[in-house]
Amino acid sequence: MGVALACSVLPDVDLAYFYLIDQRRHAHHDYLTHTPIFWLAIAGILAVGLIACRKSSWLIFVAMGLLSILLHLVLDTVAADIRWLYPFSDRAFNLVQVPALYQPWYLNFLFHWTSWIELAICLLGISIFLKDIFQTRPQ
Ligand SMILES: [Zn+2]
Repeated sequence: MGVALACSVLPDVDLAYFYLIDQRRHAHHDYLTHTPIFWLAIAGILAVGLIACRKSSWLIFVAMGLLSILLHLVLDTVAADIRWLYPFSDRAFNLVQVPALYQPWYLNFLFHWTSWIELAICLLGISIFLKDIFQTRPQ
């Protein structure tokens, strides 16, 4: 679970580059860290390394991490341009265009209905967590 949670935010580590180095010149969803091929390559390299070191039982962590990252990209695809076919195509896919109505920019996403999907996922996670805590509490 820890590996899955940590990996689920890995693609957004590129925000450090976005703010500190790129000076916000390009959308961070255009970086290589928001393409499936990048993470498939990393997972492949890790898998080969683990097999070579006879640690095949750790492959489940690579699989869980990769699935978490791909889920991140699926959720980003709801309201952001994700290049799923890169490097074979530069076409970006998204389900909904969020109109630029407010300043600062993040208010456009906060006030858009797509943020309700993320809120619902968070509330579901919190409710499962709380239910688990109260059901396993010793009496
Ligand atoms: Zn992202």
